[in-house]
Amino acid sequence: HADTAMYSAKEAGRNNYQFFAPEMNARATERLRMENDLRRAIERNELLLHYQPQIEAASGAPYGCEALVRWIHPERGLIPPDQFIPLAESTGLIVPLGEWVLREACRQQVAWRRAGLPDLVVAVNISALQFHKPDFVTKVSAVLAETGADPASIELEITESALMQPGEDLSARLLQLVDLGLTLALDDFGTGYSSLAYLKRLPITRLKIDRSFVDDLPGNAEDAAVTSAALSLARDLGMQVVAEGVETHAQHAYLTERGCHAMQGYLFSRPLTADAFAKWLAGFDACAHTPAPGTARPE
Ligand code: C2E
Ligand code: MG
Ligand code: MG
Ligand code: MG
Repeated sequence: HADTAMYSAKEAGRNNYQFFAPEMNARATERLRMENDLRRAIERNELLLHYQPQIEAASGAPYGCEALVRWIHPERGLIPPDQFIPLAESTGLIVPLGEWVLREACRQQVAWRRAGLPDLVVAVNISALQFHKPDFVTKVSAVLAETGADPASIELEITESALMQPGEDLSARLLQLVDLGLTLALDDFGTGYSSLAYLKRLPITRLKIDRSFVDDLPGNAEDAAVTSAALSLARDLGMQVVAEGVETHAQHAYLTERGCHAMQGYLFSRPLTADAFAKWLAGFDACAHTPAPGTARPE
């Protein structure tokens, strides 16, 4: 009996082992597969950019767009960035991926210019890891030269958390980007811990208020307080504010009344393919600058 009991315990132990190991293996295997797929996605041309219009609050006219990456996986279909940017960041793949995004956005800006579209700002997201690479400025400069993009029409969106990393004084690096003729926006503003003193020293043109603060406007008192504070801070620092995730007329009205410069959100348009964006813009011009909020169609 003693032997049987020991045998059972061993069996149970082995079963326990077998219970956990395959699951962990499956997760690791899945992650590895995704990593390999992502590594090849750039070479295989599986990435593409969508462009979400940005509207000037005062005039209601579009002044630019944000380039947002998508992955068309051969088996899984369209994968949104939230499902692969974190993996790209943890594996370092964000560096080549981010460079692809910048090059593609610059290439598109040149194509639109050649097609006679009005000169619009194309905003490009830059990940912290990318921004902190010592050769980042050199890379950006090379992509601008290679594509012939007008730096005045390219805006780099750098997250608040990327700028709040200790150590290095990043204002010098930001100034080098400004010297290239680019404009800089602080993305996801309000989610980090930027000190006002630090912000003041940075050559940043625009603050992008994070969607999480816009969602519950105008009803939510805390979000209203954060938004108002951001707007008055921006005014005092001579920066502009872009509100993200504007979905309702009430949010639009609330932000406009408080001097928000620009907006982006489903109320105006979802992110669009390059062709759909050009058509949207043409349709907008045909309407003689009457924004048609609420006519946004799904991507
Ligand atoms: P983000 O830079 O803050 O971009 C704004 C996100 O909000 C986009 O999601 C956009 O589609 C979404 N959005 C805009 N308006 C609305 C709205 O009215 N309602 C709602 N519910 N959502 C709205 P998306 O395209 O899924 O991108 C998510 C995040 O992935 C981006 O946040 C950015 O952090 C990251 N990302 C996207 N493309 C790139 C890229 O090329 N490089 C890097 N490093 N990150 C990227
Ligand atoms: Mg952004
Ligand atoms: Mg943002
Ligand atoms: Mg975000």
